Amino acid sequence: MSRTIRIAGTVNDSIVDGPGMRYAIFTQGCHHNCPGCHNPHTHDPNGGQDTTVETLTKAIMRNPLLSGITLTGGEPFEQPEALIELVEEIKKSGNLEIAVYSGYTFEELTKDKESPKYKLLSLCDVLIDGPFILDQRSLELRYKGSRNQRTIDIQKSLKSGEVVLMNDGRWN
Ligand code: SF4
Repeated sequence: MSRTIRIAGTVNDSIVDGPGMRYAIFTQGCHHNCPGCHNPHTHDPNGGQDTTVETLTKAIMRNPLLSGITLTGGEPFEQPEALIELVEEIKKSGNLEIAVYSGYTFEELTKDKESPKYKLLSLCDVLIDGPFILDQRSLELRYKGSRNQRTIDIQKSLKSGEVVLMNDGRWN
């Protein structure tokens, strides 16, 4: 039986959560409480609705036009075990880019290499990291809300041991 994931909702053909057409999953639950957050309805871990890894995997596989998946929220890293299972399933069946948004920084997510958070991070391709900071808000940024947030190439960063930003032109 596949794991349950608590979600606020999904969009199966998003063009605003990363380059190309993406399946966006808005996870439910976030404790960061960033002032000015655009998705306050995603904060309560008891809000939203339950779905399963299997349901989401099937929905993703039904759309042949997708170029990627975006895990956003809410705080995806509050449900790392279920999302690990989901990402592993998606990776078995296709070559979709996996992006994840988080109120945690890359440094916070990589502190404990034994943690499920680290494992989830290591399975993904792109991390948009850090809390939304109202003072640093900019409407000119692509796919992110405030200037402190970075768009990180996860695999290159883990390999080199320091943050490497995405620089292929699609994300910025
Ligand atoms: S991390 Fe994201 S969802 Fe959570 S409070 Fe901050 S902006 Fe809102």
